[in-house]
Amino acid sequence: MSSTHIGHYINGATVAGQSERTQPVTNPSTGAVTGQVALAGAQDVNAAVASALAAFPAWADAPPLRRARVMFKFLELLHQHKDALAHAITAEHGKVFTDAQGEVARGIDIVEFATGIPQLLKGDYTEQVATGIDNWTLRQPLGVVAGITPFNFPVMVPMWMFPVAIAAGNTFILKPSPTDPTPSLMMAGLLKQAGLPDGVFNVVQGDKVAVDALLEHPDVKAISFVGSTPIANYIYETGAHHGKRVQALGGAKNHMVVMPDADLEQAVDALIGAAYGSAGERCMAISVAVLVGDVADKIMPKLVERTKALKVLNGENLAAEMGPIVTQQAHERISGYIALGVDEGAKLLVDGRGFNSAQAGAGCEQGFWMGGSLFDHVTTGMRIYKEEIFGPVLACVRVPDFATAVQIINDHEFGNGVSCFTRDGNVAREFSRRIQVGMVGINVPIPVPMAWHGFGGWKRSLFGDMHAYGEEGVRFYTKQKSIMQRWPESTPKGAEFVMPTSK
Ligand code: NAD
Repeated sequence: MSSTHIGHYINGATVAGQSERTQPVTNPSTGAVTGQVALAGAQDVNAAVASALAAFPAWADAPPLRRARVMFKFLELLHQHKDALAHAITAEHGKVFTDAQGEVARGIDIVEFATGIPQLLKGDYTEQVATGIDNWTLRQPLGVVAGITPFNFPVMVPMWMFPVAIAAGNTFILKPSPTDPTPSLMMAGLLKQAGLPDGVFNVVQGDKVAVDALLEHPDVKAISFVGSTPIANYIYETGAHHGKRVQALGGAKNHMVVMPDADLEQAVDALIGAAYGSAGERCMAISVAVLVGDVADKIMPKLVERTKALKVLNGENLAAEMGPIVTQQAHERISGYIALGVDEGAKLLVDGRGFNSAQAGAGCEQGFWMGGSLFDHVTTGMRIYKEEIFGPVLACVRVPDFATAVQIINDHEFGNGVSCFTRDGNVAREFSRRIQVGMVGINVPIPVPMAWHGFGGWKRSLFGDMHAYGEEGVRFYTKQKSIMQRWPESTPKGAEFVMPTSK
C-alpha cells in the first residue's frame, strides 16, 4: 500500500524535518493508511521559528496594500483550487465532499476579509489634545505568531487565523492536526504562488511535542488555539505563563430549543442537519435538542424516521449526507458514550452502532462507520448531557417551559453556540438577551458568524479575551501604540515638572 511522507513547510520549502517520529494518516472511509505524517521535535520548531523571525522585519515593513495584494492573489488561487482542497479534506477527515466545499468557502470568506487590511489597520488621530500637541494611535504586528488547529476543519480553522495574522504584518507558524495534515501543505503552496515571501507562512506537523516547543519558545509572541477544552485550558495557562498573548477556543455542547409555536417541519430539518452533518464532528453541531412543552411528542416520531433514513455514504458520493467517523479511536469513544447513555437511563430510540459498513459503498468495509443515534428522555445529570461526545448523537431533553430551557443552557459549562426555533419575536429577543452563550441563532441552527463579525464562545468554550477573526482578530494580532507629538516653537520654555494636562 502506498504511503506518502507528509512533511513540514519551512522557509518556503517542504522538508522532512529532523525528528524521526511519524504517525499514520488514514482515509476514514476505507480505513486505509494513506500517509505517514512527520511529528516535529523541538529542533524542527526552532527552524520554523527562526525562518519566521528572519522574514518578519521585511514583511512587517511592507505597506499594508502590498500585503493585501498577496491576499487578493491567494484568494484567486483558492477559487481555482477549492475542489482539490475539498477532496483532500474528504480523503483524510471523511466529511462529505459537498460539506468540505462549504468548509473551504467559509475559509475563503476570511481571506476576503483580510484583503481589507489597509482599512482595518487605520488608526485614530486627535489634533490639539493640548496646545500644539497631537495624539494618535496605530496598531503594529506582534512578530512570530502560531496557530494550533483541530482535525475537524483542516482548511477553515487555520484560515480563521493566518490570513488576518499575515495581512496584519506578522509571520506565522501553523501546527495542524496530525489526523488530516495534507491541506495545510496545499495552502502553503498556494501562498507561495501568490507571492508570499518565504518564511512568512510555515507549517510544523506534529503533536504535543511541537505544541510545547511553540508554547515555550521566547520568539513566539502569540498563540491561537482551537480544539478540545482540556487542551485549550492547558494552552491558555502555559502560553500566559510564558508571557504570550493567547486565544484558545475549546469544546462545546450546543443546544437547540424548539418552542411549541415553532415551525416544526423546519425545526426537524434543522435538527437533523445540525446534529448529523459532518457526523456531528463540528464545534457548532447541535448535540442537545431542548423540546419545550408538547413539542417532543409531536416531533419525536419524525426525528426517529429521519435519523434512520440518513444517507451514510462514502463522502465522495455526492448523495452522501453523512460520512464516517474520523478515526477508529473516535469511533470507540462515541460508541462508549452511546452505551453509557443506555446505562444512565436515557431512551435510545435509534442506535447508530449497528450500521453495516458495506452499505457505505465499495471498499468501505474497514472504514470507521456508524449511523446516527438518537436519545430521548436525557436529563441534565447524565454524562451524555454534560460531556462533549463529538459524534452523530443527538440527545433530546424535555422541559416544561421557556424559563427552564434558558436555565439549563445557562447552567451548562460550555457556551459555544445555541439556537432557538420560535415564531414569537419577544421570545426570540429575550432568548438572545438572556442566554449565556457566545453565538446565538434564531431559527438558524448553526450560527457561525460571518468573517467580519468574529467567532467565539463563552464560558469553557473560549479562554482569552478576543474572538477569532473579524475586528477582534485584527486586534489580537496587533498591538496598539499611542504617539504624542509636539513640534515646539523655537523659544525655550524651560523644563516642566507637573504632570502634563490639557491646557
Ligand atoms: P484536540 O484538542 O485533541 O487537538 C487540537 C490540537 O491540539 C491539535 O493540533 C492537536 O495536535 C493538539 N493537541 C492534542 N493533544 C495535545 C496535548 N496534550 N498537548 C498539546 N497539544 C495537543 O482536538 P481535536 O480532536 O483535534 O478537535 C476536536 C475538538 O475541537 C472538539 O472538542 C471541538 O469542539 C473543538 N473545536 C472547537 C472549535 C471552536 O471554535 N470552539 C472549533 C473546532 C473544533
